[in-house]
Amino acid sequence: APDNIEVPDEVRARHAELCRDLDDHSYRYYLGAPIISDAEYDRLMLELREIEERHPILVTQDSPTQKVGAPISVDFAEVEHLVRMESLGNAFDFDELNAWADRASAEVPVDGYLCELKIDGLAVDLVYERGRLIRAATRGDGRVGEDITLNVRTIGVIPERLDESVRPAPELLEVRGEVFLPVEDFEELNRRIAADGSHAPFANPRNAAAGSLRQKDPRVTATRPLSMIVHGVGAYTPAAEDAGATVFTSQSQAYRLLGEWGLPLSDRYKVVATMDEVRDYVSHYQEHRHDPAYEIDGIVIKVDDIALQRRLGSTSRAPRWAIAYKYPPEEVTTRLIDIKVGV
Ligand code: NAD
Repeated sequence: APDNIEVPDEVRARHAELCRDLDDHSYRYYLGAPIISDAEYDRLMLELREIEERHPILVTQDSPTQKVGAPISVDFAEVEHLVRMESLGNAFDFDELNAWADRASAEVPVDGYLCELKIDGLAVDLVYERGRLIRAATRGDGRVGEDITLNVRTIGVIPERLDESVRPAPELLEVRGEVFLPVEDFEELNRRIAADGSHAPFANPRNAAAGSLRQKDPRVTATRPLSMIVHGVGAYTPAAEDAGATVFTSQSQAYRLLGEWGLPLSDRYKVVATMDEVRDYVSHYQEHRHDPAYEIDGIVIKVDDIALQRRLGSTSRAPRWAIAYKYPPEEVTTRLIDIKVGV
């Protein structure tokens, strides 16, 4: 193709280098041991995107711009997710956020947005069969994750059995959420491991949560005060005795049902009708970033109506019906600490 010939050698070489570096950084990040800050990672990704926009011939399925997560580690068994786990598109300012909303509204009549905190933890996938937790996995590359069932069973807020006092448990429920360490528990954990010398201190709660969840020995995970909040549903089959009556119609209604089944919900999400209110929510938490007990790196905005979510669909790596508004990195000093003790 003529396009191919037009890509200068130095651009081609830089593209290959960025792909290699981003893959390497992803792998380290998902292990809980990154060596660059998220802002630096995002900058490299932006550079890669810009090269690919100018030279679409360089876009392959294997490019970091097209795929989710990182290859999975040999330490854990592989698990195929029932429904693919996706990443999220990003907006770094209100113009980008508005552009996302305009694109969605041009396709479907959006009448409500669910706003929630973007917890800086790691995604897990839980499968409940007739109300019993049978499997838990990391996101992995979105299609296949790592089997961390035994580790997840040590997390107190994750029910082993769904609560059926309000309605019967579904035949099958695949639920997604974020596992994290509350900031105070993270600080306490770092004091403890510094005192007993069992581990190098973790640079931040996210690394500590990722490292704690991916322990080969679940007894170690059990000593780490991990928590979780749900943020999505994958596969779902209603209970037979329910005659299929309980269906998910909106993200917020799904959360209410998940809450009734005893799954841990955030008490800070909000459904709003207009983008003005979405921007108010984003601004509020930008000012009150440290009010929650856990670290957040932005806000996630979702089209609330599930029928509209289906109509909007997904790209190769992220839903078109949701977006992450990313807050700027907090301060340079945290990044320096990150780099010193990150590994
Ligand atoms: P992402 O973190 O930008 O967004 C997707 C993830 O957000 C989901 O998988 C889920 O785990 C999480 N999430 C938190 N709250 C959520 C909510 N309320 N609803 C839905 N999802 C929620 O995307 P990603 O693909 O996981 O990672 C990319 C980002 O990770 C980069 O932008 C960068 O910041 C960081 N990263 C950093 C390094 C590094 O070396 N520092 C390497 C790789 C990735």
